[in-house]
Amino acid sequence: MIHNFNSGPSILPKQVFEQASQAVLNFNNSGLSILEIGHRTPQFEAVLEEARSLVKELMQLDDDHEVLFLHGGATTQFMQIPMNLLNDNQIASYTDTGTWGSKAIKEAKLFGHVEIAGSSKDTNYTTIPHQLNVSPTAAYLHITTNETIAGTQWHNIPYDAGVPLVADMSSDIFSRVLDFNRFGLIYAGAQKNMGAAGVNLVVVNQQLLGKVNRNIPSILDYRNHIREKSMINTPPVFAIYVAMLTLRWLKAEGGVSEMEKRNAKKANHFYDTLDSLPLFRGPVAKADRSLMNAVFVIDDAATEKEFLDQAKSEGFYGIKGHRSVGGFRASMYNALSYESVEALTQFMQQFAASKG
Ligand SMILES: *Cc1c(COP(=O)(O)O)cnc(C)c1O
Repeated sequence: MIHNFNSGPSILPKQVFEQASQAVLNFNNSGLSILEIGHRTPQFEAVLEEARSLVKELMQLDDDHEVLFLHGGATTQFMQIPMNLLNDNQIASYTDTGTWGSKAIKEAKLFGHVEIAGSSKDTNYTTIPHQLNVSPTAAYLHITTNETIAGTQWHNIPYDAGVPLVADMSSDIFSRVLDFNRFGLIYAGAQKNMGAAGVNLVVVNQQLLGKVNRNIPSILDYRNHIREKSMINTPPVFAIYVAMLTLRWLKAEGGVSEMEKRNAKKANHFYDTLDSLPLFRGPVAKADRSLMNAVFVIDDAATEKEFLDQAKSEGFYGIKGHRSVGGFRASMYNALSYESVEALTQFMQQFAASKG
């Protein structure tokens, strides 16, 4: 039995893999593969439209919020966002909660002034900053709702910072109920919680667009993508198809609120076990722990290696921590079952018991 705790690309529902495989061979009984039909065919346009409307429905978006499927991963958004929203002479407010926020900050500096509204650097990114200082004139405030590497998550979203809120939700999109209409822009690479690598979801409030003075290359201007319905050029058709299947699955399972319940149950069970075993330690402040990516360590290098080796041979995949932080990380995305989390906690208990 394999338990897939990979951080991304990561586990998806088995039926999504089956349906996607079938579409590669024979898409909707057309006798053609999804990979060989034109993107401007009615068949593919229906896929894109269904994906778009599922996002709108699952997030309960209002008419100001446009749904885009773009290339380039979340990393491209680090520069596309300031290019579209930040003037040279303006300030953008960023929070620094780890690797991903830092990368976003680096790119924003190319387009305007960046102020750090809050940082958890001095706790080695084991916390979320709870006091923010946001300039009232800032073009926007940027947060990383879930820090995939550090294992932290914003449980209180700063909706009331007084400026538009921009969020990197790559690793917790569709995992919990949020007031999505209160965000100015939401972006997420699909490969963590909503599909295959190669497509990026962007939800943008169109009222924020058209306010910068610079010339924006056509393919990077959100307004063009809105006008062309994510079809300026050939979109990542297969990745969009897989995302659509995953969203269909999500809706059929009960939507975002059901995912929130399941994810809370999995994470609570995991952290309860972690806290009951002195051999293991969770470095993240309890109030700021991520329900998606649980980071934990063993404070002895030899025992740590032993745990990893045994875990691998027992079928636990992807629990080695990110190379920048070490230790372990269990990613518990929507498609991961409670049974997989239970198997891991049992294994941790057995391992701890074997160490006395
Ligand atoms: C994985 C990840 C990214 C990078 O995504 P790419 O699609 O590889 O560019 C950015 N932000 C967060 C929070 C992530 O987890």
